[in-house]
Amino acid sequence: MKTPLECFECGHLVTPTIEERIEVLPVRGEDVEVCARVGVCPHCGVDMSVTELDEATLITAFNTYRQRHGLLAPEEMVRLRERYGLGQRAFSLLLGWGEITLHRYESGSLQDAAHNAQLRMAADPANVRILLEANGHRLTVRQRAKLEVALGALEAGGTASDACSCEDRFVVREEQDAYGGWRKLEVSKLREMMIFFARLPEMFPTKLNKLLFYADFLHFKRHGVSISGSPYLAFPYGPVPDHYGTIRADLCESGALATREVYGPDWGGEILTAERAVDKDLFTAEELETLQEVATGLAGLTASRIAELSHKEAAWSNTPHRDMISYEWAKELKAIGADDDQADVSTLDVTREAPPNPAAR
Ligand SMILES: [Zn+2]
Repeated sequence: MKTPLECFECGHLVTPTIEERIEVLPVRGEDVEVCARVGVCPHCGVDMSVTELDEATLITAFNTYRQRHGLLAPEEMVRLRERYGLGQRAFSLLLGWGEITLHRYESGSLQDAAHNAQLRMAADPANVRILLEANGHRLTVRQRAKLEVALGALEAGGTASDACSCEDRFVVREEQDAYGGWRKLEVSKLREMMIFFARLPEMFPTKLNKLLFYADFLHFKRHGVSISGSPYLAFPYGPVPDHYGTIRADLCESGALATREVYGPDWGGEILTAERAVDKDLFTAEELETLQEVATGLAGLTASRIAELSHKEAAWSNTPHRDMISYEWAKELKAIGADDDQADVSTLDVTREAPPNPAAR
C-alpha cells in the first residue's frame, strides 16, 4: 500500500495502516466469513476504504462461496475455454450467452448456477459439438474453423494444446465493435502510447491509464475510430485498458519502461519512466495530434485530479463495475474535447451500422 489516500474522517493524506480481522460479507444472500485486510487511518483510527484491499476481500468471499457451491474458479474457466482455442467473446457466444458474459466471469464476477452447469457440460467435447451445431452461426468463419480443429484433436484423444494456437498471451480481439472503438486491437500501438505518456514527468500508473483512455476515446469522438483498438474496463480508480498489466510487464521486462519509487513527506509511490523514444511511425499524423492534445491538456494534472475527472465521465459512471466501456460514450467526454463542433460527432454513425446502445446494457 503505497499511494497516499485522503482520510474522509480527519482529512489527512495518509498511508493507511493495515489490520487483519474476520468480516462477514453477504454473497447472494448468504453470509460468508473471511479473513479481511482492512485499511485504518493512522491519524484518527477510523476505517478507510482501500480499493485494492476491499477487492481482495471480495475475491476471497467469492472464492469461499464458489467452493461451497461447487462453482468453477475463474482460472478453471480460462483453462476450459483455451482447450477449445477460442477467445472469451467467441466462447461466450458459443455457449449462447451475451458477448461479454464470460469475460466478466473470467475477470472475477460471480457466475450464476445455470451458467456454471453449462460450463461444466462444456468440459465434454461431445457437448461442445452440439453447441457448435446450435450456435455456430454466432461465430466467425475463422472461429468456427479453430473450434473444428480443437474438437478434432480432442475427439482423437490428442492433447488440447496441440490444437490451440496459443501464439501469444493475448486474447486478440478479432472483432471490430464499439468496445474496441471500431478497430482491431493493435498491441504494438497501445505499447507505444504507454511509452509516449511515460516520457512525461510524474507519470503515476493510475494517471497513465486515464491518459490512454482519454487519447483513445477522444480520437474515437473526432474520427470514429480509436487509436489502439483497446477495450477499457471500468475499474474503481477509473478506466483501465484491457491487458494493461501484461503489456506493462512486457515493457518493463524489455527495458523500455522502468519504475521509480518517489517519496513525499508522509507517502511513497511509484512512477513510470520511458527508457526509449516512441516509434512514431506506427501512428498517423492525426493520431499523434490526439496524443499530443491529451498530453498538453491533461498530463499536467495530478493523478488524483485526473482520476476524479474520469469518474465524472458518462463512459465510466454508466458502465457496471469491471465491464467493458462502450466507445459510444465518447460523445459525452467532459475533460477534453467537450467543446468540439457537434456536427462532427453526428456524422460518425452514418458510415456503419448502428452499434449496440450502451444504455441498454
Ligand atoms: Zn483519519
